[in-house]
Amino acid sequence: MSFEKINVNRDIKHWLHVIEQGYRYTAGPIGTKFLEGIKAGKLLAGKCPVCGRLLIPPKAFCQYDFAEIKELVEIAPVGIVRSYTVVYEDSYGNKLPKPVVIGFIEFPGVAGGLVHYIVNVEPGNVRVGLKVKPVFKPGNERRGSITDIVGFEPA
Ligand SMILES: [Zn+2]
Repeated sequence: MSFEKINVNRDIKHWLHVIEQGYRYTAGPIGTKFLEGIKAGKLLAGKCPVCGRLLIPPKAFCQYDFAEIKELVEIAPVGIVRSYTVVYEDSYGNKLPKPVVIGFIEFPGVAGGLVHYIVNVEPGNVRVGLKVKPVFKPGNERRGSITDIVGFEPA
């Protein structure tokens, strides 16, 4: 096994929108259940069988005691904005028609959180501590993806 070590910043490569290689990734058994939950309009957290912690997004193993996570439980769909940024330009430096807000959202009693759009609020009215709830696409447009959630709006 070998690891690529980056010593010079200009060696870092990035791709806009599409990664060149034709890799396909799976979400894994737990990630798939999480996405199926989103498709059904629910937020599901992993529940650790050892420490009982709830984790979102759920991972295959508990990050505290490495126990295997097999159970997902539905959580209340109300989160708290813990951090956010307002984006004014796209990846090419073009001014967006209107600013986009991206936030990190935590859920009370749940470890982790989700990064997602904050919608239906003026950027100037977003603040840390704002209570938000998910806005789902109509059921027939959901594909089992995190983007089945349009964003989170003030609750
Ligand atoms: Zn645990």
